[in-house]
Amino acid sequence: MRYRRTTAGVFSTLLAVTLAATALPAQAHGQPAFAAAQLRAEPNQVRDLTVVQGDGYATLAWTPVDGATDYQIERTPVADDDTVSGPSVISGVWRPNRQVNNSSPTFADAGFAPGSRFQWRVRARFGTTTQPYSTPVAGTTRPHWGDPNTPGQSLRTQWETTLGAQYTSDVNEYAYTAAVDELSDRVRVVEIGRTIQNRPINMFVIGYPKPPATPEAVAATNPLVVNCNVHGNEPGDREACLIMARQLAFTDDAGTLDKLSKTTMLIVPTINGDGRAANSRGNSTGQDLNRDYSLIRQPETQAFVEMVRDYRPIASFDGHEYGNTNTGDLPMLPPRHQNVSQGIFDTSQDMIEGHMYTEGAKDGWWACPYGCTGAGVGLSEETILRNTLGLKNVVNSLLELRSSGGPTRPDEGNTANNRRRKSYSALWTFHQFLTYHVANIPGITKARAEGIAFQSANTGRIVFRGSRPIEAYPAPHPGEAPPPLDAPTPERILEQPPCAYRLTEEQYHGARSDGPAGRQTTVAQRLAAHGWKVVKVADGYLVPLSQPERGLVPLLLDGQAVEGLVDGERIAPTLTGTHNGPLTVTGVACLAGATVRGPIRVQPGATLIVNGSAISGPVNASGAAGFVLTDSTVNGPVNVTATRGPVVLVDNRVSGPVNVVNSAGVAPLLAGNTVSGPLGCTGNAPAPVNLEVANSVSGPKSSQCARL
Ligand SMILES: [Zn+2]
Repeated sequence: MRYRRTTAGVFSTLLAVTLAATALPAQAHGQPAFAAAQLRAEPNQVRDLTVVQGDGYATLAWTPVDGATDYQIERTPVADDDTVSGPSVISGVWRPNRQVNNSSPTFADAGFAPGSRFQWRVRARFGTTTQPYSTPVAGTTRPHWGDPNTPGQSLRTQWETTLGAQYTSDVNEYAYTAAVDELSDRVRVVEIGRTIQNRPINMFVIGYPKPPATPEAVAATNPLVVNCNVHGNEPGDREACLIMARQLAFTDDAGTLDKLSKTTMLIVPTINGDGRAANSRGNSTGQDLNRDYSLIRQPETQAFVEMVRDYRPIASFDGHEYGNTNTGDLPMLPPRHQNVSQGIFDTSQDMIEGHMYTEGAKDGWWACPYGCTGAGVGLSEETILRNTLGLKNVVNSLLELRSSGGPTRPDEGNTANNRRRKSYSALWTFHQFLTYHVANIPGITKARAEGIAFQSANTGRIVFRGSRPIEAYPAPHPGEAPPPLDAPTPERILEQPPCAYRLTEEQYHGARSDGPAGRQTTVAQRLAAHGWKVVKVADGYLVPLSQPERGLVPLLLDGQAVEGLVDGERIAPTLTGTHNGPLTVTGVACLAGATVRGPIRVQPGATLIVNGSAISGPVNASGAAGFVLTDSTVNGPVNVTATRGPVVLVDNRVSGPVNVVNSAGVAPLLAGNTVSGPLGCTGNAPAPVNLEVANSVSGPKSSQCARL
């Protein structure tokens, strides 16, 4: 407490000290200070300080002081009787760029050992001139989550038991994971793959009262996923993930159980177990796995991409740490690649700027755009999970934890304090992610359905590299500046998209050297991991662009790609104008923006690819190699029988019955179509799917299509 020279000042200070002592029990429960103390507060003294405890942090809030340029947060250890038991530290500096709402400043104080008791004071500064401290508020911080006497809740990670001195080892992670799995009906742990050094890559599948039994059943629940540790030397998020898994598995909180009853949460704690064990950024070959999600040269990234294919999460966070002292607590960034659909970008931004910035301002965490310091990061590489997932129509964000305390958290010279602040800020973020997700499932699924329709339509230019701009947030924005513009240069743009890429037998099935010895995979295996449709034709393999991950296809198969997989041959559309009369397809026909005034018949062994076209109909295909129809209208029936390769019908309007029967080898995709008439599916092996994008069918939906 600073003493003032005026009599009135001394009087009010003494009164404040007296009142503070008696007011503490009430304040410890978040009550404002006594009105009398407020009336007699010193000039420019911070008033109305409240402290609310969270998991690993305490949210301080106060009434702003006119003219303050920033505030200092002081934290002092106290005993149970609130006598001071250790030295005070300035643990935080609140700056106006910290949050979107400066009229209600908040600061998430963090880094302390959970369960300790402190008192906090806050003072304003005018420039470098400090003003009087607030009356102190004391409180006991939350202990490590979970009743030590309740099975399951009593589990602790190595990081928790060592109070942040050690990160959780691989062995401890596996034991903890197995115990959570064993003790909770809400959790199933699945091994989605193995690292090069044969470490399991586990995933928590969490639902209430229990998680769905199969990937297909999980996909039907609009799941969300957190990828916790791709860079082995950025372990902060992983510790948060392990704690969150325990909380979700064993909590009695009605609100959390309600959320888990409405979705399935997937948590992949350690995709890069080898890198974590070695504390290295890359995997055991030195490969940066977050530059490999499109190319999937490595078994770790392949496992994750196959999980996305099978479990179909609709939203994601990807956890990292970031070594820049001047950025916010929690830099975030949406998928920016310009091939990502507008709705996926917009919804990701809504999750970040609409939700995280707003909730961060309430709880005291400083979310901001990644790259806000002007560094050349946060760009459009499709090899980065953030962009790969955007191109897979997943609403998602990068999460960085600022590595060091920096000027706004000056008490993090202590390593454990620094680690705890990072991991508990990640825990806050992942809980907010679940909250946002459950509250916004209709908006996220709508963006996803529109993204799948947009991509499958194969319309518009292809950008090989280039980002959407991130606009500066209105002042006082939660960051110094948006990330770099990263607009595509002309040589990174292809104005007229091809219909498909043709790969040779050698390109498709040939041995490759771009992967770890003994674990190298072919192009065929990687495209299968992505879940892409490929048509076997007489002279090779056709990869149509008219499919849900269209924006990613050229980035791997075009010779102009920056980090391509193979130089596929661009197949141009064969018909773009009007065709009068019947059309018989032999070989490969590709209709783009075409009008066919007559019926279409696809001969056995032929391939038809149609997008953005109008067909009088009927359309009949029997024994085709592949059948792709997107973003088109057919005034008549569509009958697709005994196709030997992919069948894709997305976002069409068909007046007449649609029948897909006896397809073999690949599950037909029927999504987002409007059918005036019945939809019939029989004898397809595997059965048709809709990727959770419903069809609108006026007639009966029968047999295998009954639920599409
Ligand atoms: Zn990273």
